Amino acid sequence: MNNRSEPKGGTLRGQPDLHHQLLHRNREWSRRMKKENPGLFTELAKHQHPFFLWIGCSDSRVPPNQITGTMPGDMFIHRNIANLVVHTDQNLMSVLDYGVNVLGIDHVIVCGHYNCGGVKAAMGPEFDGPAADWVRRIRDVARWHHRELQALPDEQARFDRLVEINVSEQVYDLSRTSIIRDAWEAGRPVHVHGWVYSLTNGLITDLEVTRTRYEEAVGMLTTR
Ligand SMILES: [Zn+2]
Repeated sequence: MNNRSEPKGGTLRGQPDLHHQLLHRNREWSRRMKKENPGLFTELAKHQHPFFLWIGCSDSRVPPNQITGTMPGDMFIHRNIANLVVHTDQNLMSVLDYGVNVLGIDHVIVCGHYNCGGVKAAMGPEFDGPAADWVRRIRDVARWHHRELQALPDEQARFDRLVEINVSEQVYDLSRTSIIRDAWEAGRPVHVHGWVYSLTNGLITDLEVTRTRYEEAVGMLTTR
């Protein structure tokens, strides 16, 4: 199976009129879904009741539904470069507010991935453009954990660990938002999870930094 498309689709590389291919595959997919899940579209057209809110990287190799075997309607999704939680990001905060307060989602997952280009960029020299400003937050994360990172044997080990630490820091930042704090205050069983995905074997590792109440979130600060 190639890694550029749906399992049944074949490669998109080198094909003319790529966008037509997408529309063609969409029709095939719709046909298959109707056959395999009669009534699914009728049900989904009425409402959505997703169980999970996914905050992941924009990287094309980490498609949330495919890697978790979930269906349309299962997951509310926000993606950005290096899966960052920024309190001034109206986009993410709107998704979080709607997901937690309107859709009633109790499981919020921050999923990073090894070999993340955004994290790698933050480990390298300064550069220009909007992405430079965006990944600056990861430079801060690296600075806070400088001692731990420097103790590691090589650059790849530091890269892998920074990907993990970055996820933990986003879980922490998420748990400090008023949206999550208010949900906990109201007695909601909201879980904030930190996961990392491996591009080399397709497996997700739970970093076991799950937060379920405010005290735990504050506790994370002392481990810094
Ligand atoms: Zn990435």
